[in-house]
Amino acid sequence: MNGKLVIIAGPSGSGKTTIVRHLLGIYPRLAFSISACSRNKREGEMDGEDYYFLSAEQFKDKIEKGEFLEWEQVYPGSYYGTLRSEVERLWQADRDVIFDIDVKGAMNLKKHYPDNSITIFIQPPSLEALQERLSKRKTETPEFFEQRIKKAAEEISYSDQFDKIILNNNLENAYKEAEGLVGLFISK
Ligand code: 5GP
Repeated sequence: MNGKLVIIAGPSGSGKTTIVRHLLGIYPRLAFSISACSRNKREGEMDGEDYYFLSAEQFKDKIEKGEFLEWEQVYPGSYYGTLRSEVERLWQADRDVIFDIDVKGAMNLKKHYPDNSITIFIQPPSLEALQERLSKRKTETPEFFEQRIKKAAEEISYSDQFDKIILNNNLENAYKEAEGLVGLFISK
């Protein structure tokens, strides 16, 4: 039987990953959908935990075989996608699935499962705040940093297509709002 999909998106640096982790700690029904991606592993990341890290060739091979529910070239040369097998694995274990994906991926997943998904956009207070958070994170080279800021502006323009928007100008408040929305949705 299909479980539910809690689809969280928002620009890099909006705090969405922190919010997703928080929700996973609050609701044991939720399980994280581990995406496949072709970018390099960052320090501290684990294959099969943060992502399934693939080469671009391996990723393209899986696209051709139809193994993805959705995939995007989120940044030039970097592919990210949700494997059908991942979602099926979690549903078989009787879990609801939570996703941390980009805005287009979010819209595509919702199209596959309109009746049992909720899309939530995490809105940063401003582009300036986002720039500051991303520069503190220091995970990106200057070139990738620029790419992420450009992409963030594009992502924000999709926010009105989401079921719900959470403004993250205070993390505690954002946690509470997310808990409320998601708790209600998975208990329905
Ligand atoms: P990062 O490189 O910071 O881990 O992720 C970059 C972006 O790719 C983030 O916006 C993240 O949410 C998105 N992303 C991660 N997994 C997926 C996925 O499976 N599909 C899509 N479309 N985007 C993803």
